[in-house]
Amino acid sequence: GWFGFRPVDPAQKAGMVRQVFDSVASSYDVMNDAMSLGVHRLWKAALIDWVAPRDGRRYLDVAGGTGDIAFRILGRAPGARVTIADINESMVSVGRDRALDKGIKGDLSYLVADAQSLPVPDSSVDTYTIAFGLRNVTHIDQALADAFRVLRPGGRFFCLEFSHVILPGLDKIYDLYSFKLLPELGALIAKDRESYQYLVESIRRFPPQEELAERMRAVGFERVEIRNLSGGIAAIHSGWKL
Ligand code: SAM
Repeated sequence: GWFGFRPVDPAQKAGMVRQVFDSVASSYDVMNDAMSLGVHRLWKAALIDWVAPRDGRRYLDVAGGTGDIAFRILGRAPGARVTIADINESMVSVGRDRALDKGIKGDLSYLVADAQSLPVPDSSVDTYTIAFGLRNVTHIDQALADAFRVLRPGGRFFCLEFSHVILPGLDKIYDLYSFKLLPELGALIAKDRESYQYLVESIRRFPPQEELAERMRAVGFERVEIRNLSGGIAAIHSGWKL
C-alpha cells in the first residue's frame, strides 16, 4: 500500500544517506522550516532547555549538520566548548558558512566523522547531543555505544528525533501529511522528491520511544527519560553515564 516502505539494505544505507544530505545540504534549512511548519525550532528549543548549557562544559553535537544545536548551545552559554561532528562534508561546510553569517563567537570546532566510530577520546565529553541524526545512522546501537564511550562518568546523552505519535487521531493526519504532502513539498521546494521520501521512511523505521530507551540501557545508560514533543511526532531521550 502507499504506507509501505522499501526495505533498506544496511550495506547501502550509508551511501544513500550521504547522497540524500549531499543533495539537500544547500536547501536543508529552508526545507526544515517548510516540512515541520517551523515546529523544529520549538523542538530544538525544548532540547536546549533540557540540556541547560553551562560555560566551560564540553559539548559534542553529533550529526550536527548545519549547526542549529551547536549555535543554540553557544547562545545560552557563550563560554561552552562545542564540537560539531557530522559525516557529511557538504553539511559541515554549510554549517561553517552559517556560523560566519550569524557571527557565532566562541569555542566551536568541526569534525567530519561517523557517529558509529567517533575520533574522540574516551570519557572526554560532558554532554553528547544528537538531533535528527540517529535515524540516519546505519547501526544505532553502535552509535549509542560510542556515545557512551566518549562521555565522562557523570556525563549525559540527549537524542532529539522524530518518533511515534502517541495521540489517537493525530496519527492519521500525520500519516497523510508525511506520506502525501511532504514528498510533494520536497519536490516543490528542493526539487528532490526521492530524498524527502527517504526521510519519511527513515522516520517510520526508527524505533518507538520505549524501544530506543531500552537500547540506550543496553549500552549502559542509566536513569533514561523520555519527553514526547507534539504528541510524539518527536521525542527527546536522555540518559546518564554514571
Ligand atoms: N542536527 C542538525 C539539525 O538538527 O538540524 C542536522 C540534522 S540532519 C537531518 C541529519 C545529519 O546527520 C546530516 O547532516 C547527516 O550528514 C548526518 N549524518 C548521517 N549519518 C551520520 C553518521 N553516521 N554519523 C554522523 N552524522 C551523520
